[in-house]
Amino acid sequence: MYKLRKTSGARLINYRSYLVINTVGYLGMSVHLVLIPSFYWLGLEYLSLINIFSSLIWITGWAVNQHGKHDLAITLMISEVILHTLFVVPIVGWHSGFQYYLMGAIPFTLFNNKLDGRLIILISTSLCATFIVLDAFTHDTEQALILPLRFTKIFNYLNIIISFAAIGIISYYFRRASMTLEQELEKLANTDALTGLYNRRRMQELLELQKTLTSRNQSSFTLIFVDIDHFKKFNDSFGHSCGDYILNEVAAFMKKHLRQGDIIARWGGEEFLIMLPDTDIKGARIIAEKIRKAIEVKHFHLAGQDFSVTMAFGLTQHEAGHSREDSLKRADDALYEGKYAGRNLVWDRY
Ligand code: GH3
Ligand code: MG
Ligand code: MG
Repeated sequence: MYKLRKTSGARLINYRSYLVINTVGYLGMSVHLVLIPSFYWLGLEYLSLINIFSSLIWITGWAVNQHGKHDLAITLMISEVILHTLFVVPIVGWHSGFQYYLMGAIPFTLFNNKLDGRLIILISTSLCATFIVLDAFTHDTEQALILPLRFTKIFNYLNIIISFAAIGIISYYFRRASMTLEQELEKLANTDALTGLYNRRRMQELLELQKTLTSRNQSSFTLIFVDIDHFKKFNDSFGHSCGDYILNEVAAFMKKHLRQGDIIARWGGEEFLIMLPDTDIKGARIIAEKIRKAIEVKHFHLAGQDFSVTMAFGLTQHEAGHSREDSLKRADDALYEGKYAGRNLVWDRY
């Protein structure tokens, strides 16, 4: 069984290659295993034999993929597609449609991570050239008549359907890969790696958005700066990982105590910013007091040690017409006045 899980970096890329090769592998194996009796039944034992060989290549490709050899699997599968086309099309003719698989081979090749741009262009050009050469030599030749016309048509439609399905499957995996990457990038750009809260960059965007809404609705919102008191002592006395642990726990604790729609971000260091939409300063004071008291009595445990944390809160109300910078400055001033007044308290400024 394949062991790699969807984690990150190289493992995620390997997992993606594994999935697409596995799916295309099932398709390839099925096609060739069905072709063996089909050609035999039509009296084309030679092609039946070729398809036994093809099936073996696909099964080998599928098996090496299970063992993490993705690039080898793709090379085997693509080589088989080219060889099979070169052997079969001159015999059963262009109109049986076995050449369409060459098109699906191009996007499939791109899943081979070891190929550089030049090699990909070379392979694509070779596939295109093979397609044109086969067209030139087999399109109107007598060989096309080796099969009764109705079987030629059946093969043609089946080959078109399977080729489209293969291209569809491969494109789906490309789409999934790019969407996953976009989501990961967006998450990385917007969140703080330690606490998982929004980072300052994203919070600035959300503030701007809320400011616009507030101006339009003639409403208001409240900003609360939160700073952990004497945070340095956790780092100094118990190490940086203790500081990180406290930050993480406090972030999760505050998030849990806020309502849906309230927004919290790590503004920097041991400082957080909370935005409470459609909440006036009176309501915000009640919420800040509730969190302050809850934190004050909470016990944090790490490596057999017991810690307690207190925090200072600086509040201000943002009204329609206020600038974002001014509101941030007022909340920041409120926080520092609170710190000066003695910490572990809620302080506000209009
Ligand atoms: P005050 O009560 O006045 O707020 O004092 P304080 O010690 O909390 O504040 P100060 O600004 O003096 O120190 C903040 C410390 O937070 C300094 C910095 O090393 C630490 N810090 C900032 N970011 C991180 C982090 O991500 N992890 C850890 N462990 N410490 C951090
Ligand atoms: Mg502090
Ligand atoms: Mg600070």
